[in-house]
Amino acid sequence: MKALVYHGPGQRSWDTVPNPTIQLPTDAIVKIDTATICGSDLHILKGDVPEVKAGTILGHEAVGTIVETGAAVTKFQIGDHVLVSCITSCGSCRFCKEARYGQCTGGGGWIFGHLINGLQAEYARVPFADNSLFKVPSGLTDEQVLFLSDILPTSFEVGVLNGGVRPGDTVAIVGAGPIGLAAVMTAKLYTPGRIIVIDLDDGRLAKAKEFGADVTINNGREDAVKRVFELTGGLGADVAVEAVGVPATFELAAELVRAGGTLANVGVHGKPATLHLEKLWIKDVTITTGLVDTRTIPQLLSLIENGRLDPTVLATHRFSIDEAMEAYDVFADAAKTHALKVVLKGTAVSTETKLKVPTTATA
Ligand code: NAD
Ligand code: ZN
Repeated sequence: MKALVYHGPGQRSWDTVPNPTIQLPTDAIVKIDTATICGSDLHILKGDVPEVKAGTILGHEAVGTIVETGAAVTKFQIGDHVLVSCITSCGSCRFCKEARYGQCTGGGGWIFGHLINGLQAEYARVPFADNSLFKVPSGLTDEQVLFLSDILPTSFEVGVLNGGVRPGDTVAIVGAGPIGLAAVMTAKLYTPGRIIVIDLDDGRLAKAKEFGADVTINNGREDAVKRVFELTGGLGADVAVEAVGVPATFELAAELVRAGGTLANVGVHGKPATLHLEKLWIKDVTITTGLVDTRTIPQLLSLIENGRLDPTVLATHRFSIDEAMEAYDVFADAAKTHALKVVLKGTAVSTETKLKVPTTATA
């Protein structure tokens, strides 16, 4: 089959690789119908994630069709149309038992395109299929559910829910990339009084307005702290969400939060940030961090099914999956291309790589 393969920092190619096979009875093989690229894939390509070995297929967000199931897979059948969670769950370790799937110690967690081959391919092996796949409700398109693999649950769980957003709150979101914008979308589910989005890029701030931000601040031109305090009667934001992942934005979010408020960090940080405890100790502030668990996928699916949430607005560019190399270029050059999420549509798989669909499930 064909797949997008990482060959070390700065190097990727669209290669011919062996088809995935069932390795454990809890595995399923999925034909990828629709996939997407994440900011983390770019981090990997920069060499920021050294655990990723050269030769690994990238990608952890996709929708597909089951073509083979291991003998122990009981909840899914060949032909099922499924959303693949970016987080795999063994279902039985201490953390999976408390729905903290991101921290799974039983071989799950964030493994796709990281510790095992990922989903930017014609086919993929999904470990712990019963716990890591979700049936796509009939009538919904791949694009409607695709962003539930990672970014919607990330912004919802690690931003909005960890931040404890309540009706009437002022929510300040630092960063208007896909994660910050998904935080705007999912914060709105809780009817905040005001959503303020802060970014350096006017194009992204314009998007934030489209997504429902009430106020946008370009912190390259304007003092964001001053403006947020003016808007909140000198108190600060009830919830500040950090959705960038650099020291400056963590430190900014910590300055924006009111006494008794919450700073919810979503950004992935590669460098230490300064925690100004000398200012924060007296403010009753809560700081949360986290890796997404994707425990809210069923809830988000039902919101989409009922017309309450429409993540398709995040898709700005569409390619066929065999144009993945070009799609990466467009996604990586977001300042110029204005890309948010690029959609990779699976092609009709060439006959020589086509997996033979067994008539009965085999291990
Ligand atoms: P992105 O790079 O597309 O967007 C980041 C935005 O931050 C951009 O719009 C950029 O203009 C803005 N920005 C950069 N520096 C800034 C500054 N100093 N002040 C204000 N704005 C600034 O990234 P994304 O895909 O939206 O992801 C955001 C973060 O979330 C990343 O760090 C990503 O790795 C992380 N993430 C975390 C999890 C998790 O489980 N915690 C999951 C997925 C992604
Ligand atoms: Zn587990």
